[in-house]
Amino acid sequence: MTGKRPLVAVLTGAGISTDSGIPDYRGPQGLWQRDPSAQETVTIGPYLASGEVRRRAWLMRREAGAVGARPNAGHRALAELEHAGVPVRVLTQNVDGLHQAAGLPARKVVELHGTATEVQCVRCRTTGPMAGALERVAAGEDDPACEQCGGVLRPRTVMFGEALDERVLQQADTIAKNCQVFLAVGSSLQVHPAALLPRIALERGARLIVVNGEPTPYDEAAHEVVRTPISQALPELVARLVDGDLSEA
Ligand code: ZN
Repeated sequence: MTGKRPLVAVLTGAGISTDSGIPDYRGPQGLWQRDPSAQETVTIGPYLASGEVRRRAWLMRREAGAVGARPNAGHRALAELEHAGVPVRVLTQNVDGLHQAAGLPARKVVELHGTATEVQCVRCRTTGPMAGALERVAAGEDDPACEQCGGVLRPRTVMFGEALDERVLQQADTIAKNCQVFLAVGSSLQVHPAALLPRIALERGARLIVVNGEPTPYDEAAHEVVRTPISQALPELVARLVDGDLSEA
């Protein structure tokens, strides 16, 4: 034992946020796959080309925002890991900002698909809070434009038709290579880059733990597979990690 605590990487997908009332929009049964007119609102081409698509997008965001999603026991458990002094990095496929809302410092969270908590002007690149844009929608603007230059405002998410940010992918790759424990939580592990990251960690000798309600392609390779609901499973796993119980692959 060197006394150095192992780095824990946690990849999170839609499954960790469903207990916060956020549906899995992107998954195979999700709204975006089932409803082409909904998918247009999250696809860059139609979004930029059509004011009508943007008006629908803002209405949908306003409805989703009204849910007032809060972090659940799963998010809080991961923040607790950090507060207990365990080095942790979260790689999330989610855009809801709930890891940070639960108390994880932003620098510990890599947002693979960006964030829906901020907007950005497509012309002058000015950013601002999504909440401010939604207040303008509530006050009657159906397609709020950039207050600096009048350009189109968009969420700071990776939309369909856009590539993931190369720098973000590089960060995720580095974390997967350097962790000793890799938790894959609430992700089907079938979509790039989530499909690749556990393999990178395994190849470097990390211990892989899969927490997901449904089978994943990594179940056989994993050292442990947990099927219990995430908001129960994570507090238990975190307690073991804090005890140093999971550091041996
Ligand atoms: Zn602008």
